[in-house]
Amino acid sequence: MAKKSALHIKKGVEDAPSINPNFRPKAIKSLGPDELLRGILAGDLAALSKAITMVESTSEQDRAAARILLQGALPHSGRATRIGISGVPGVGKSTFLEHYGIHLLKGDATAKVAVLAIDPSSSKNRGSILGDKTRMVELGRHDRAFIRPSASGGALGGVARATKEAMILCEAAGFTHVFVETVGVGQSETLVAQLVDCFLFLAMPGTGDELQGIKKGIMEMADIIAMNKSEGDRRPAAERSALEIKRALQLFTREEDTWIPPVELISGLEGSGFEELSTALETFERHSKIKGWFEQKRASQNVFWFERTLGEGISQLLNGRESWKKNKLQFSEKVALGELSPFEASEQLLQTLAETF
Ligand code: GDP
Repeated sequence: MAKKSALHIKKGVEDAPSINPNFRPKAIKSLGPDELLRGILAGDLAALSKAITMVESTSEQDRAAARILLQGALPHSGRATRIGISGVPGVGKSTFLEHYGIHLLKGDATAKVAVLAIDPSSSKNRGSILGDKTRMVELGRHDRAFIRPSASGGALGGVARATKEAMILCEAAGFTHVFVETVGVGQSETLVAQLVDCFLFLAMPGTGDELQGIKKGIMEMADIIAMNKSEGDRRPAAERSALEIKRALQLFTREEDTWIPPVELISGLEGSGFEELSTALETFERHSKIKGWFEQKRASQNVFWFERTLGEGISQLLNGRESWKKNKLQFSEKVALGELSPFEASEQLLQTLAETF
């Protein structure tokens, strides 16, 4: 049974829309990071939801509280299998997550499945992924599942950072599988790849999807490819497409490891091919751990987020200084007028900064 929230959450403070009815906030007083952490560690989904809202917030007060919360959660994180899911809209990501999530929960009474989303369109229109609450209904109702749409507003980088932090919180709450879903339309995959242990790319037969994927370089990022919608009379086309992908994959040499991504035939709708897919996921994880790639990847991802956050922080810090802002504006006017090239202008502006050290 789901743990009932022992915690009370301030009335009127709206959480981000959530799909799982188990974590609808309903309560009385506002919670500090320590209380939230206690709730999370006890597996309380309402506390988890509230905590994610806190890490998504850009207010200074919330950021300060979120830092305390994350420091506390960090030692309890890291044990989940982190899986990225991508593929063009309509390929069947939600359907797959709904059925595969249930499959995992049924197969293991100790499994807990979280689904987080990174949606590049979310800042404009509240997001298409997971925005529709009718998707993943059964999984959303399960007391060992947690589904969270991506934060609205803000830059993609900010959404991705919040997702990394949400992942830490989910792990601290005991989730054994954290899926990060994104739409297969570019930039967001690069960020998702920096969040997960394994990148699962969903393709479908007969749409030229396999070639599109290659063009976007997504194939280079994929650790496992699942040819979805492979049931019934679609099977022969799926087999042909899978073969094409396998051939195309031979053209890539992975520099970071020597893994050859398998192509699995599945039907997210019917649930076929799930055992084989689970085996592929386990094999990849075991292989990565034996070879030491697993730890290496997580370490380099942490360095990536450190550098990225630092870069954004420096930029924010500078933009808060009047003299820098004025100087920057002058240079950008010169660039706009064609008086200076963008590169020369940034060189000169950086020079003024370097001189202040
Ligand atoms: P998403 O945009 O990638 O999340 O795709 P959806 O999960 O919303 O699925 C898009 C459409 O494809 C829906 O009409 C699904 O019912 C259908 N679909 C998803 N998976 C399968 C599958 O395995 N086989 C078939 N035939 N249709 C599927």
